[in-house]
Amino acid sequence: MSVSQNAGAKASSHFDAVIVGAGFSGLYQLHLLRDKLGRSVRVLEAAGGIGGTWYWNRYPGARCDSESHYYCYSFSRELQQEWRWSERYPEHPEIRRYLNYVAERFNLLPDIQLNTKVMRADFNDESNRWVIQTESGEQFEATYLVTAVGCLSTANVPNIAGLDDFGGDWYHTGHWPHEGVNLAGKRVGLVGTGSTGIQATPVIAEQAEHLTVFQRTANYSVPARNRPLDDAMQAWIAGNHDEIRLQARRTTNGHPFDIPELSALDVSDAERAALYEAAWERGGLRFRATFKDLITNREANETASEFIRDKIRSIVKDPATAEKLVPHDHLYATKRPPIDTNYFETFNRDNVALVDLKADPIDRIVKEGIRTQAGTHPLDVIVFATGFDALTGPLFGLNVHGSDGVALKDVWADGPRTYLGLQTPGFPNLFTITGPGSPSVLTNMPVAIEQHAEWIADCIAHMRDKGASRIEATREATEKWVAHVNEAAEATLLPMASSSWYLGANVPGKPKVFMPYAGGLAHYRQICADVAANHYDGFAIS
Ligand SMILES: Cc1cc2nc3c(=O)[nH]c(=O)nc-3n(C[C@H](O)[C@H](O)[C@H](O)COP(=O)(O)OP(=O)(O)OC[C@H]3O[C@@H](n4cnc5c(N)ncnc54)[C@H](O)[C@@H]3O)c2cc1C
Repeated sequence: MSVSQNAGAKASSHFDAVIVGAGFSGLYQLHLLRDKLGRSVRVLEAAGGIGGTWYWNRYPGARCDSESHYYCYSFSRELQQEWRWSERYPEHPEIRRYLNYVAERFNLLPDIQLNTKVMRADFNDESNRWVIQTESGEQFEATYLVTAVGCLSTANVPNIAGLDDFGGDWYHTGHWPHEGVNLAGKRVGLVGTGSTGIQATPVIAEQAEHLTVFQRTANYSVPARNRPLDDAMQAWIAGNHDEIRLQARRTTNGHPFDIPELSALDVSDAERAALYEAAWERGGLRFRATFKDLITNREANETASEFIRDKIRSIVKDPATAEKLVPHDHLYATKRPPIDTNYFETFNRDNVALVDLKADPIDRIVKEGIRTQAGTHPLDVIVFATGFDALTGPLFGLNVHGSDGVALKDVWADGPRTYLGLQTPGFPNLFTITGPGSPSVLTNMPVAIEQHAEWIADCIAHMRDKGASRIEATREATEKWVAHVNEAAEATLLPMASSSWYLGANVPGKPKVFMPYAGGLAHYRQICADVAANHYDGFAIS
């Protein structure tokens, strides 16, 4: 069956579990609940195909930043042996092909209903079941509602005056047209210089007649050093499945490399520079693991930040442009660290200009283009690489109402409050994969996703074995967990980046709360395992 077809509804709309979302999370959760536990499951997905992030994000240059051999599932050795990645960081079509392969291999498609947007979910206190309503008016009932809606799936288009007046076309990178956009001969304005903007800039510069990058926050970026995976690397990946899997599970960020027990302040200037140089040449997110204290010690971090600032100055030929690109308002890796292929080099091209919005803010969008205080930049196309209403956005989009009709949006009005990121008091039988309060976006996400999906499946098996029908996080356990999440964030430099989407700062009106759990994935995995072993301590089961 083609995955772009709607798999068709079963006669019954009553299920043991409804899962919302068919990306990495939803696919694996379906496999576990249906094939390991024998539960009846329906996956509801708004998109016309599976893949989640990789269904929606098709902008020029869209690819993963985690390396392919660990930006994938690890639960099946056979799957890993069958699939060959072509590159160190594959582009979006290849990741989509992989997820479609997984869906077909595990026969997941018959239980996935595409083109089905969930608009509302209400918990029925009498039946202990969720009632789920879709945009087209269908209704489903399920004992368990598992949200696999992703952390970065609600596009954030900035509210800039005059967008409706614009005479050209505009796009958000997270909703890129499937047929692509022909930028040849076009004057393109790209707004946003986070990970996406940094990936897209060099590729758009090659396609367009002219590119103007509108930068609010200068960003650190390290070369990705993408390359095809040669036979030796393929053989190494195939021969080391268990070791890669185990290593990813025992590290702070779910990446299969250890962080050395070495402080950036314990070595001589020459040694430090040599280690940074080697990490720069190796490329990728591993740069942040050069020393153990880059995320915890400001002085240590400054050495990495300064190294990258110097690199920017040495790459970008025009000193004034280079200075605009050098970040001073936050430290390296305290915002989501981008990696790139020729990002800074792109500003040496004749057809690329940079507008520093801190010095020259946007006044409004006009018919001809974007008007800043200094004047109008004529444009045919505007690309918003402005990210997402991260973590809470997709959950609020579900319009979830728990016991007594209470809305999640109201309960989280001052910021998310969860127990382990998995549940919220007042919302029984609702599980969230990689929700706020869990390591989620601070990790290589497939590892965090597998841990959550497995924990949820084990919990539902436990409920079945006990003959129980209702599980709910207690308020006491939740308050303690929220305090611990805050404490873990404060022990790092991460909350210092005041414009970060980790804090919700990119969305006007969103409470500024550091949302993910910064205590490390391995540590978190142990906490979750202990909770389960201790009779699901902190959950009320009946
Ligand atoms: C451009 C980009 C690059 C990334 N690169 C990396 C990387 O290199 N490494 C990494 O670890 N992570 C990366 N991420 C994070 C990425 O989101 C995760 O790695 C992973 O894909 C998340 O999978 P998921 O299934 O949890 O969520 P998603 O892939 O976001 O899937 C969620 C699905 O839920 C659906 N949905 C949401 N709301 C509803 C609703 N109301 N009704 C029905 N369906 C709904 C959406 O349509 C979507 O298909 C990247 C993210 C982006 C945007």
